[in-house]
Amino acid sequence: MTAAVIALGSNLGDRSRILADAVRAIAELGGVELTAISSFHETAALKPHGVDESAPAYLNAALTAEVALTPEQLLDRLMDIEQHFGRVRAERWGDRTLDLDIIVFGDERRDVDRLQLPHPRAHERDFVLRPWLEIDPTAELPGRGPVARLLAALEAQP
Ligand code: ATP
Ligand code: CA
Ligand code: CA
Repeated sequence: MTAAVIALGSNLGDRSRILADAVRAIAELGGVELTAISSFHETAALKPHGVDESAPAYLNAALTAEVALTPEQLLDRLMDIEQHFGRVRAERWGDRTLDLDIIVFGDERRDVDRLQLPHPRAHERDFVLRPWLEIDPTAELPGRGPVARLLAALEAQP
């Protein structure tokens, strides 16, 4: 079993219901045992040009799990769950019913478009770090350091 961290986000539809149902769907996957689930955090939408207060806001969450799958298998199953909730891939960082990202998967490293591990943008995203820190106060992002320190650095920015 490998410890993994998954980030969840939704900014369309019945967001809290979608996140709760997605958590349940992940828990029901064969080879996945949830170990902790954060509360749901409201965050303004981030677009390629910056924060977009006019776009519907996100609910974000994080969960930790023990996984007896390969990272690629886990990604495939998460993408199936996104599809089930009506995820449509359009513009980059566009509005979506459900986004499921693998943030870390043990000490596995990947650097292909299909799967990058650890997630290459996690360290700069408060909406990933804050829920993760909530469920694991000693969390570390491999190659980047303690999540508590990364989040404090983001919060110190103007
Ligand atoms: P971001 O990755 O910046 O959060 P996004 O979540 O909006 O952007 P998507 O459109 O959901 O991006 O996914 C684009 C592709 O990213 C997916 O097809 C998937 O194969 C790939 N991908 C690469 N690394 C990961 C990862 N760690 N977790 C989930 N998807 C990943
Ligand atoms: Ca994402
Ligand atoms: Ca994604």
